[in-house]
Amino acid sequence: MAINLVLFGPPAAGKGTQAKRLVAERGLVQLSTGDMLRAAIKAGSELGQKVEGIIKAGDLVSDEIVIALIEEQLDAQKGATGFIFDGFPRTVAQAEALDLTLKSRSESVDSVIRLKVEDDAIMGRIEKRFEEQGRKDDNPETFKHRLDTYNKQTAPLLPYYSAQGKLSEVDGMAGIETVAASIAEVLDRQASPKGEPKKGFFARLFGR
Ligand code: AMP
Repeated sequence: MAINLVLFGPPAAGKGTQAKRLVAERGLVQLSTGDMLRAAIKAGSELGQKVEGIIKAGDLVSDEIVIALIEEQLDAQKGATGFIFDGFPRTVAQAEALDLTLKSRSESVDSVIRLKVEDDAIMGRIEKRFEEQGRKDDNPETFKHRLDTYNKQTAPLLPYYSAQGKLSEVDGMAGIETVAASIAEVLDRQASPKGEPKKGFFARLFGR
């Protein structure tokens, strides 16, 4: 069954790590607007030049730009088993545009999984990522600004998806394996006919 999943959470919550696992385990396609924008910067394209300063400052690029990137990928990867939206949507306008564009393709957002993490803990995580990957926008000052931007512009999406009954939360502070297992549980529950958790071996055997 095709599934369109939004992985939701602040920067450095572990969305990318979990998205990559879902790609490997479930054959879904990861659509990370951050990765697309970084690729454009690396390629030195017109888009890359336009967004470089914005990303470096930790601000959001315009809704039009990221919506266009997502639509381009939805067209390019028609027939995919499903998509994981990673780092998109980040504003209510983006979420509305995503709903519309999926609707025009007879699809919808099926599930939104929020990785719940604490600000203090991700500040620690980001120092490690900054050392390892050297992303300029991971430096502590810019990162604080990105976190602020998340809280102001992206967190308001939570009630948007909650009102649609699509929001689930998992503890993003746990280890990678535990988080992956919690995500799998949510997806399997949603895939089962009545939204019930999958039955265990004995329950299946004895019909209970
Ligand atoms: P990420 O790798 O998802 O943390 O994204 C890195 C940066 O790219 C963000 O701090 C923004 O500047 C920009 N960006 C990525 N996705 C979006 C989006 N959906 N809307 C606006 N800006 C974005």
